[in-house]
Order: sequence, then structure tokens, then C-alpha cells
Amino acid sequence: MDDLPVRDELRGKSPYGAPQLDVPVRLNTNENPYPLPEPLVERIAERVREAARDLNRYPDRDAVELRTELARYLTRTGGHEVTRAHVWAANGSNEVIQQLLQTFGGPGRTAIGFEPSYSMHGLIARGTGTGWISGPRHDDFTIDVDAATKAIAEHRPDVVFITTPNNPTGNAVPAEAVLALYEAAQAAKPSLVVIDEAYVEFSHGDSLLPLIEGRPNLVVSRTMSKAFGAAGLRLGYLAADPAVVDAVQLVRLPYHLSAVTQATALAALEHTDTLLKYVEQLKAERDRIVTELRAMGYEVTDSDANFVQFGRFADAHEVWRQILDRGVLVRDNGVPGWLRVSTGTPDENDAFLDAVRTLKKEQS
Ligand code: PMP
Repeated sequence: MDDLPVRDELRGKSPYGAPQLDVPVRLNTNENPYPLPEPLVERIAERVREAARDLNRYPDRDAVELRTELARYLTRTGGHEVTRAHVWAANGSNEVIQQLLQTFGGPGRTAIGFEPSYSMHGLIARGTGTGWISGPRHDDFTIDVDAATKAIAEHRPDVVFITTPNNPTGNAVPAEAVLALYEAAQAAKPSLVVIDEAYVEFSHGDSLLPLIEGRPNLVVSRTMSKAFGAAGLRLGYLAADPAVVDAVQLVRLPYHLSAVTQATALAALEHTDTLLKYVEQLKAERDRIVTELRAMGYEVTDSDANFVQFGRFADAHEVWRQILDRGVLVRDNGVPGWLRVSTGTPDENDAFLDAVRTLKKEQS
């Protein structure tokens, strides 16, 4: 690859991706551990069969039915009424973020995130030619609002990312902090503020969706990869002022969402209530992991997500390897001293907790 005439900013870089190892217990990519329920699998087959009859035609370019149903889901669960005009969908929230950066970032423009956070924000920025600014956090991984507002005033970024609940740390960002950053971003530029709520269904608190009201430069980004247990589907979406939805049309590829994807997502949305019951089970298991890890003497960051950040370790990567030796794959996100474990089924969580319990005993 080094000999190819690739863009300078991509030279020597590695692609994003967690190791995909063949291990009995895989708790490293924040997936939902529950397969889709059988009645939903049947419904997907039905809907896809119907869609297959029209595959000689391009799909609905504007995904009208899907956006209408996503708007209905957001209105029901997000504490704020939205319509399909406020909603846009793409192949995973990664593509939503890419389209936002293609529209509002790009060469000569910059985006800021408060790290450690979801590393794809910076990588998609790079892929779209957008300059990346790494903003600060406190040692406890909460956003340092004073330092963050100063960074926004100084760098005047075009796009601001706020991930809540944050990945990989798990903690949520209070609405007041988001509002302070939004005000700072409007005063500095004005710029687009993207609230990445990929994990919000697992939160103890509420979605920040109502904040889009009267804030034309605020976007909430969501996904069906986590709460809906459909990471393989690749369906992400956003809610914002309808003008933002109009703007991303300028960069989206025509017919980017296949008819099969739209049909599958619509089937999953019909089963929202069942899927959200799994979310409740996962939240209880997440809370159990937090409690048990703390009881063992580990430090744990408060979690509003379907994963838990725990530490602290002099050599986190070595501990990652020792847990792997016990048949459990967790994630080393490169946050010094910390590792991240996704919530699995009760049995998988027990296997993880047993592994770290024996490690702790060996160390003491
Ligand atoms: N945002 C955050 C914070 C994430 O952690 C992830 C996935 N790990 C995504 C967005 C992307 O999810 P997807 O593309 O599957 O919707």
C-alpha cells in the first residue's frame, strides 16, 4: 500500500476495527448478545420476500415509510414529537456521521470531539478531509465544560461531537453541559453540534432529543445496532431540524439504502416492544456488572451504556491478554489503565466476572 499514490493524510494509518478472535465469550464490540426473536425473523423474511419482487427497481430513494416509522419510534420514546421531515436514515450511524461531515465539514474545515470518545468521529473526519481537534475531559471522564468551551472559542470548529452515553467510558453527558457547548459553538461560528446517542436506550436518564426544538444546528444521531440488536442490519438515523435533512441530501448517494435494508428495518420497528424488553434485561445485567466489579475492588466508571469501563491497571493490555487467556474477549480501547466490557447474556457476564475475580485473587 505504501507504494500507492494514496492521499498524504492516509499514509501509514491503520483501518478501524476491533480484533475478531474466535473466543468462547466475546464482549468486545458493544453488540446486543440476544439474537432477534423468531417471530421477528419470520416477519423480516416476509417483508424481504415482498421487497424481492421489486428488486428490478431502485428502492425508495427518500425511504419515506422507514423515516415515518423511525419518527414514530422517536416520538414514542424520546420525549419529543418529530415527523419524517426531521428524520434521515443511512447505513449505520457511521454513514450518518460521514454524511454530516461531508455536508458540514470537509477540506479547510474542522471538527472537535472530547476524548477519549468514539474514535470513528476522528477517523471519519480524516476520511472526509475534515481537520480533527481532540478536546479535553476531566480525569473522571466527564466533559470539562470550561475547557471545552474555551477550546471551541479558540478553534471555532465547524462540527462539534458530543457522545452521550460516551463510548468507551460509558458515562452520560448532562443536558446543561450539552447546552453550554451548543451556545459556545453558536457564538464561535456558528457550527453544527452532533449528539451521538448510539447507546441512549440503555441510559438511566432521558434522550436529549427535545433539545433539537428551536436549535437548528443541533443533530441527534441514533442507531439500530445496539438497542434493536441489529448491528448486522446497518441502519442508523438522525433527528434534526428539517433543513439539516435537506442539506444531507446534497451528499447522500442516490438509493443508498437498499430495499432489503428498508424492509428489514421496518420489520424490526414492528417489534420494538419486544426488543426494548431485552434492553431492560441488559440494563439490569449492566448494573450487576458494575456492582460486582466494584465489590471486587475494581474502579468502574458510571455507565449509562450497554458496556462498562473498568480499571485501573498499570498495564491494561497485559490484563486484556490475561482475561483473553480465560476465554473472554474484552476491549482495550487504548485508554491508559482502563478496559471495556460489553454486557452479554447472564452466563457470559458470569464467565467474565469469574475471570476477573480470579485475576484479582492472584494479584493479592
Ligand atoms: N456511535 C457510537 C458512539 C458507537 O459506539 C458506534 C458503534 N460502535 C457507532 C456510533 C456506530 O454504530 P453503527 O454504525 O453500527 O450505527
